Amino acid sequence: MADTADRALHPATLAAQAAGATDEQTGGVVPAVHMATTFARDESYAQLVPGNTYLRSHNENVRVAERLLTRLEGAADTLLFPSGMAAVAAVFRTVPNGASVLVQSQIYWGTTAWIRGFCARRGITLHEVEAADSDAFAAACAAHRPAIAWVETPSNPWLRIVDIAAAADAAHAVGARLVVDSTAASPVLSQPLSFGADIVMHSATKGINGHSDVLSGALCVADADSAIWQMIREDRDTAGAVMAPMEAWLLTRGMRTLPLRMREMSRNAMALAEFLSDHPQVEEVMYPGLPGHKGHALAARQMRGGFGGLLSFVVKGGAEAALRTAGRLQLFHRATSLGGVESLVEHRHTIEPHTGIPEGLLRLSVGIEDAGDLRDDLAQALGQ
Ligand code: PLP
Repeated sequence: MADTADRALHPATLAAQAAGATDEQTGGVVPAVHMATTFARDESYAQLVPGNTYLRSHNENVRVAERLLTRLEGAADTLLFPSGMAAVAAVFRTVPNGASVLVQSQIYWGTTAWIRGFCARRGITLHEVEAADSDAFAAACAAHRPAIAWVETPSNPWLRIVDIAAAADAAHAVGARLVVDSTAASPVLSQPLSFGADIVMHSATKGINGHSDVLSGALCVADADSAIWQMIREDRDTAGAVMAPMEAWLLTRGMRTLPLRMREMSRNAMALAEFLSDHPQVEEVMYPGLPGHKGHALAARQMRGGFGGLLSFVVKGGAEAALRTAGRLQLFHRATSLGGVESLVEHRHTIEPHTGIPEGLLRLSVGIEDAGDLRDDLAQALGQ
């Protein structure tokens, strides 16, 4: 592996070259897949390759992907998990029974649902707050003194923007760790650690992998010596929520084009957001790139190079009109998830009917297809 660690390379260079990962044994310009689950020792019982004992803790393909993510996120260290939810769970398992946690309301439903159940089982007091309101977030931190404060920005599917620096100040003032789910932004568009977050979480299943063919989660930390990071690392190694070599190899391959894909997805999403904003059948468009979006100025400060591929809009006529529109789309796959090269549409109210999601809301994950083709598809589906 060529060492790029001491050079200030740009994300496009780091990603395209996987932060210098090659296969030294063959001279291959991409790393090999190492499938062995166990590693040999010599006659005197020393490890043949120092640091390699057993795959659960010593997975070279995972190390390669983690090194690249660490560089892209501007982190001190990264741990990969077999799904985004496994990464969420790894953070909350550090919270002692009886403590309290503060979690942003109306974020990815799977996160909320799991945290509610976990806290109930463990006697942890859960407080939920609209974290896009910095004052409300700071007041909740002061009132509840949580061990963990958790925000998601941009949020899925509301596209709300949280002021990370303000949230970090409020959390740190009461000794809480601020964790930011930055899935919708990816490390290319936003680096929450640079605004004071302690840990960044990603569902790497989404934009980071980018091809809808790998499940993965990541945690990236600002302080690798912190007590919480030691706990998370130890728990991953011993409890075994780890990625397999082939998945990690695919993740590294996906990340080679991450900056390119995020740029193109953001450009396409912006074009569609503008088109939908002017459409008579559309009630509201939620996209932080639009100057009229409540969090636009903040997003412009916290994000660079685009506002991502996630956008929601509300069709006039409620659930029936939204489902009719989704049903007519020909290029957008009707499927959950986001961040892949192919565009998706989802009627979130069908999936989570009791959470306040507008019945007419359609969430788009905008891919890298031609923007004109996507716009034409939306136009015919909306009936114009
Ligand atoms: N966080 C966000 C914002 C998500 O959208 C998702 C999945 O949709 C997750 C976390 C969970 O990640 P995974 O599906 O990889 O477990």
